[in-house]
Amino acid sequence: MINASLKEMAAALAAKKISSVELTQLFLARIKSLNPDMNAYITLDEARTLAQAKLADARIANGDITPVTGIPFAQKDIFCAKDWRTTCGSRMLENFIAPYDAHVISQFDHAGAVNLGKTNMDEFAMGSSNETSYFGKVKNPWDRERVPGGSSGGSAAAIAARLCAAATGTDTGGSIRQPASLCGFTGLKPTYGVVSRYGMIAFASSLDQAGPMAKSAEDCALMMNVMAGFDERDSTSLQRDKEDYTRDLNKPLAGLKIGLPKEYFAEGLSAEVAKVVQDAIAHYRKLGAETVDISLPNTRLSIPVYYVIAPAEASSNLSRYDGVRYGHRAAEYTDLLDMYCKSRAEGFGAEVKRRILIGTYVLSAGYYDAYYLKAQQIRRLIAQDFEEAFKHCDIIMGPSAPGTAFKIGEKADDPVAMYLQDIYTIAVNLAGLPGMSIPAGFANKLPVGLQIIGNYFDEARMLNVAHAYQQQTDWHKQMPEGIA
Ligand code: GLN
Repeated sequence: MINASLKEMAAALAAKKISSVELTQLFLARIKSLNPDMNAYITLDEARTLAQAKLADARIANGDITPVTGIPFAQKDIFCAKDWRTTCGSRMLENFIAPYDAHVISQFDHAGAVNLGKTNMDEFAMGSSNETSYFGKVKNPWDRERVPGGSSGGSAAAIAARLCAAATGTDTGGSIRQPASLCGFTGLKPTYGVVSRYGMIAFASSLDQAGPMAKSAEDCALMMNVMAGFDERDSTSLQRDKEDYTRDLNKPLAGLKIGLPKEYFAEGLSAEVAKVVQDAIAHYRKLGAETVDISLPNTRLSIPVYYVIAPAEASSNLSRYDGVRYGHRAAEYTDLLDMYCKSRAEGFGAEVKRRILIGTYVLSAGYYDAYYLKAQQIRRLIAQDFEEAFKHCDIIMGPSAPGTAFKIGEKADDPVAMYLQDIYTIAVNLAGLPGMSIPAGFANKLPVGLQIIGNYFDEARMLNVAHAYQQQTDWHKQMPEGIA
């Protein structure tokens, strides 16, 4: 059952071959044995989880079934879940019990899914290795000396080690796609505005977007049907008709035009990763797709632009953690200002502080025009690069990350090397486009992801493109050794 697709799990539940309580217990037992070493989950609450599974079984008995009823999912600890501790990977929220559900959480609840627990992540989703979490590093199940990627590293390890049926993540600059690449599974960052950000702890609001992380594209499509949709509580949620994201699965790919950006195959990309990605693209040609060379000329500016805009928004979003209403408060202080300073100094880790400093600097009166305004202008040019590219192709392909999973500690002291992890993913967030990563093979026994970038709202087509490949290859079915 641990390798089953969501469809297979749902069929087994409907046929009463297994109950939701049994399925949930199966995953809880795996978590008990593997999580102490893996550290994929920050918070588990077995009683609450099993109570939800019981409710799901009652729904199934009544025939009140959705495609995810009774299936246990892991939730990134960035989503507020009522009565669950919700930490966002930070000491600041170490003891925060969420008083309400994020939209994403309530969508899963309404569909009858089971919440297995809250997964580890980089502090406030800032990072690419899960090493900035206050709750400790997460190990990559493919090689436990290596990082799982980040910031959704806990969800990533939980899928790779089969500690959940599937999981949620968020992607501000690559945090679904880069861990999907490093841990060998399928992840989708939807078009900005498709999934409500209500109750999702804010990092950089104009870039943050939640999405599914799962074993296959088909599973991601089913999860998108749960997660996506208009929500008036998020002012950037888009008012669009409900979509069925599985509708295009199984469409033939003949005639599909795949754009290959020359900037994504240039210096900085590991030769082994390039080879795997090229082989995957060759497979698409066999499936009837054509490839065209394209250019995204401002790619190299995406990292500097992101590291102005994201910290600027973060510095504003994180100003709410003042020790007054909720979150960490220093035990001793002399006056109000001292309380603010000490609470924030103690509650935030080094990377978060670095971003607050950068963000405050680029927004300050003397530097706003030189940095923040300039970055916004280049952001527009980056979006225009894609607009131009999509005149010549239907979909864009390239690597998801420049290399495979790196050693724990290897880049921890070099922020710029860490930031470069997202060189192929960040522009997609800046443009608000959908992007996904699917397993395409291995380099030195470590998984490699193929990135698929679509035009706005083209998720159903992207999922079809990924699904067609997964019908003919079994990279997405491979499991790390020693976790079965
Ligand atoms: N690695 C990037 C950062 O550190 C992106 C993180 C994310 O997508 N949440 O900001």
